[in-house]
Amino acid sequence: MLDVVLSEAKIGEINMTVPLEKEVSFLESVNLSFDKALATLDIPEGMAQYIKNVNNVYQVRFPVKIKGKIENFVGWRSVHSDHKLPAKGGIRFAPNVNQNEVEALAALMSYKCALVDVPFGGSKGGLLIDPKKYDRDAMEKITRRFAFELIQKDYIGSGVNVPAPDMGTGQREMSWIVSTYTAHQPKDINYLGCVTGKPVSQGGIQGRVEATGRGVVFGLREFFRHPEGVKLANLKGDSLEGKKIIIQGLGNVGYHTAKILEEEDGAKIVAILEWDGAIYDDNGFNVEEVFRYKVENKGSIKGFAKGKFFKNSAELLEQECDILIPAAMEGVINQTNAHCIKAKLIAEAANGPVTFKAETILHERGVVIIPDVYLNAGGVTVSYFEWIKNLSHIRFGRMQRRYEDNQNNLFIKAIEQSGEKLSEDIKSKIGNGPVEIDLVRSGLDDTMRIAFQQIHERYWAEKNIASYRVAAMAISIEKIYNSYRIMGIYP
Ligand code: GLU
Repeated sequence: MLDVVLSEAKIGEINMTVPLEKEVSFLESVNLSFDKALATLDIPEGMAQYIKNVNNVYQVRFPVKIKGKIENFVGWRSVHSDHKLPAKGGIRFAPNVNQNEVEALAALMSYKCALVDVPFGGSKGGLLIDPKKYDRDAMEKITRRFAFELIQKDYIGSGVNVPAPDMGTGQREMSWIVSTYTAHQPKDINYLGCVTGKPVSQGGIQGRVEATGRGVVFGLREFFRHPEGVKLANLKGDSLEGKKIIIQGLGNVGYHTAKILEEEDGAKIVAILEWDGAIYDDNGFNVEEVFRYKVENKGSIKGFAKGKFFKNSAELLEQECDILIPAAMEGVINQTNAHCIKAKLIAEAANGPVTFKAETILHERGVVIIPDVYLNAGGVTVSYFEWIKNLSHIRFGRMQRRYEDNQNNLFIKAIEQSGEKLSEDIKSKIGNGPVEIDLVRSGLDDTMRIAFQQIHERYWAEKNIASYRVAAMAISIEKIYNSYRIMGIYP
């Protein structure tokens, strides 16, 4: 039974006291979405419970000597499902991360991977730390020690469990992890595949840094290719051109999403919300300009020359716009503000930004949500490409690029010999064989298109599927179930 408390909520312009059900934990929120999707499927109860619950979680405490003082750290790595191996998911460094959060994120990884046909189980890691408090050397020591603890217990390895960047981690940490792994497993020829999101010079892949953001954009483009969905969200048109967009979080995901939407799709980024305030400009921002300002200004957008500054960035979540993109963290749209959201479409670039309770409110108000399990799957999709590259020990495009160059040039020659003249622009575009980034983007685009088409089809074909999230989760659960079913239960 859920507790019922009285709480102040601002509904529209009126401040009124309404009974709010207590917000459930992140993990419960994910599980409630699971239950809703499960109700549309015919899966034996025991199997459903097995799929839903985390398979195992490892908590570790370890000491690190920093500037002569011993400090203790606590971290987790959780495997939600292992119907496919390795299990996959990022490692988060955050000052408030906890086991519940890590388990919820691991569960989301299972559903995400299944949905986009990335053949991995779901996993996630977390280290309780405020990275802002430590210098580079201390961070390296702490990361290496955490990695060592996980390696020792088989929570890192290209065939078992493959971490990646998440909140508070990036290429730098992945590089330290792979180096630590190699030191402990020197005979593993596939050592580079023990972690993804590495720098390109350390076995990474072109396009991984932008991948989650670009995946969000590919997902949104596909949404706009489906008029029924656009109409459902009370939006117009078949593209993102001129759409007013609010983006919450200008970190790696938010920055790339906003930049691509502005520069390639002609969308208007009217508001950017950050930890220390927000900026609004009805004419839209130049995202690169804002980002550069943020980098030069110790991570703050306060004082940016253009637009209006708002001290309380949450206020701008409630501003009118076509698309609201929460790209920072979980639970930012919850029961206290769901009534006030004026966006027509919410595109979940972060993991779990809309709570289960908030979704019910938003659904009643006709706000459409493109769910995280689908929309932010671009990161793990390109991680999959990186892992394949590491296991095959060859860069994508290396074998076929020049061959395709030559074939394309022959093709151009044949056309021109038949009397047709091609422009230099067309010739240079046709002439080039693909380099790695072309193939990565093409694979990502294809993945995002196919997955959305499956969600869309399920949503519109079945009456009992209430939302895109339910459709997405139902497809994922079904795929995981089929893997386990075909595999059989170990006696
Ligand atoms: N941390 C990212 C996510 O939540 C990426 C995971 C990965 O690449 O394994 O999807």
